[in-house]
Amino acid sequence: MSNHDNKIACDTHGNSNATFICQHLASGDGLGFNLGYDKDNPDELCPDAWCDKCEEVLDAEGEWNEKSEAFADIKVMCEHCYEDIRERNWIQDDDVYHDLVTNCFAFIEPLHKDFINKYNVGNYERWDWHQEEGKLIFSNNGIPELEAEIHFSGSYSTKSETWMWAWANSSLEEKVKSSSRAIKELGEQLGLKQLVAGRWKASEIDGWEMTSILAKVLNAIGLYRTQTKNGFIYMAITNVRWLT
Ligand SMILES: [Zn+2]
Ligand SMILES: [Zn+2]
Repeated sequence: MSNHDNKIACDTHGNSNATFICQHLASGDGLGFNLGYDKDNPDELCPDAWCDKCEEVLDAEGEWNEKSEAFADIKVMCEHCYEDIRERNWIQDDDVYHDLVTNCFAFIEPLHKDFINKYNVGNYERWDWHQEEGKLIFSNNGIPELEAEIHFSGSYSTKSETWMWAWANSSLEEKVKSSSRAIKELGEQLGLKQLVAGRWKASEIDGWEMTSILAKVLNAIGLYRTQTKNGFIYMAITNVRWLT
């Protein structure tokens, strides 16, 4: 159950990263989706997963032993299949999710409008980010004018139509992505897959909604996104100052 560097050839998705799930989940529906994180790799995209029945056996046994492992009979699964299986089996209260999104959006929307108006965001010739410092600089005529303190929530891929939380993205610097882990923790408390899953099928709107949750938690003043090759990187802005 531990070697996560292995690749697997999936009939549907081709060569993919291998993941590990209990025997019941693959063909199951609404069985629950419990996660076991690798302590050495807590940011992994697809932690080992098992159903609620397996969780009961694991609870009764107190550990993974002969009996609980035999009951789970862990199978290797392609990471994309894993994500489909998670979608089918995860149980959550969708009202909790919708209330959270609504509240966070209501919090940030008026602040964000003020931020856009007050700082003329949208009227700069260019932006440059400095991930190591967690800064986004807006410039006109080659002169830096505005400096924003940024926290990446995640990115949206127009190619795969997926959202990926910043913490799950190994190409991003720790300084700008560390805040996003607070949302994962919140998701674990509330049992919400959208907050816990590193990557999931989504729309650009989901990107704004996830970013507004981060904004609420950070008491941010605005949201922003920048274009990438295959989509956008979304961020919450917690502070801003004029440079001129
Ligand atoms: Zn199971
Ligand atoms: Zn697959």
